[in-house]
Amino acid sequence: MTENNANQKNLEQTQAAANDGLPTDIGKLGFGLMRLPRTGLKTRIDIEQTSKMVDMFLDAGFNYFDTAYVYPGSEPAAKKALVDRYPRDSYYLATKLNAFMLVRNEKGAKQEIYTSLKRTGAQYFDFYLLHGIMNNNYQKYEKYGLWDYVAKLKEEGVIRHYGFSFHAGPELLDQILTEHPDVEFVQLQLNYRDWNDPSVSSRANYEVARKHGKKIIVMEPLKGGKLINIPEAAKKEFQSVDSDAPIASWGLRFAASLDGVLTVLSGMSSVEQMAENLSFMKDFKPLNSEEIKAIARVQEILGHSAGIACTGCKYCTGQCPKGIPIPDIFSAENIKLERGNTAAAKQAYEKLRQAGPVADECIHCASCERACPQHLPIIKLLEQANADLSA
Ligand code: SF4
Ligand code: SF4
Repeated sequence: MTENNANQKNLEQTQAAANDGLPTDIGKLGFGLMRLPRTGLKTRIDIEQTSKMVDMFLDAGFNYFDTAYVYPGSEPAAKKALVDRYPRDSYYLATKLNAFMLVRNEKGAKQEIYTSLKRTGAQYFDFYLLHGIMNNNYQKYEKYGLWDYVAKLKEEGVIRHYGFSFHAGPELLDQILTEHPDVEFVQLQLNYRDWNDPSVSSRANYEVARKHGKKIIVMEPLKGGKLINIPEAAKKEFQSVDSDAPIASWGLRFAASLDGVLTVLSGMSSVEQMAENLSFMKDFKPLNSEEIKAIARVQEILGHSAGIACTGCKYCTGQCPKGIPIPDIFSAENIKLERGNTAAAKQAYEKLRQAGPVADECIHCASCERACPQHLPIIKLLEQANADLSA
């Protein structure tokens, strides 16, 4: 490509971004509805607390909610805590079509939106996403004709905007955005820990999305909570710049400071977490140069972390024929790997063993690995955890 052509292309992409037709009033903080508070035995979503969180979020001027067909109990909770309580045009609601977790054919995949509409009572979805695209499921979305399907849903007014959430590398992202230029936005896992991580490719994916002129919705800005429980040395780096800033603020502000980011989803699980996030996102300020340097020092420290990079999303557990609590086992193993407390790690593992099956019941079917958005070698890691933690 000549320099003139490249300049022309950049100009066209900038214009496309400016005219992308997406709402311009979306707040920088989005409410992710995957990790909602649960009642005592953790079997049911705590609607009372969720409603209070919704009230706080809307009162603070935010408006974007993100659920999914496959998040257990989340869509019905969105109905009770949000849809039934607020005018439909006072918020944006996103949900997702998943073609690889609970459905086995095209008809089932195309039916999901009608179940989602019924569960939420939302009448339409503002944002609709093809969910969790990775190298091993991309072909399914193609084979079922789901790209044309979401375009048709938009024409019919059932959805307002469509995009996809993505868990693979920049090559596939570039391919999808080249083959489907009509896609309006992309949802990416983006946080300072994974920024240069070769298995997550946050930065490379971000750059590809921007090259195609797409806006970005950020997921996992705190890596499923892992960027709250960071090592003491990393906390000290942050505190040396701002002793009052909550640790979570660094992850959310890092993501929200990037150009082209529409909103940053935080999967909040309590009124306290909501209050904390609102305290620094309500009057959001992008990171300054000193803060960016602190992030770089913390990236260096976390780069040497020995822990398993599981975000606790539980996409794997629904696939496991043996009912093995994979993320709980990894949490136990991380007590040893990250904190060096082998006795406490063994205790946590023993507790899991008393409650049900653990790693030694794995039959190596690999269903979990196919579903894991972090691409973890789950079978190998379970073997390692079992060897480390069995008394
Ligand atoms: S490989 Fe093991 S842990 Fe993974 S789904 Fe199969 S039985 Fe479960
Ligand atoms: S192992 Fe993977 S799929 Fe399972 S909870 Fe962790 S990150 Fe999610």
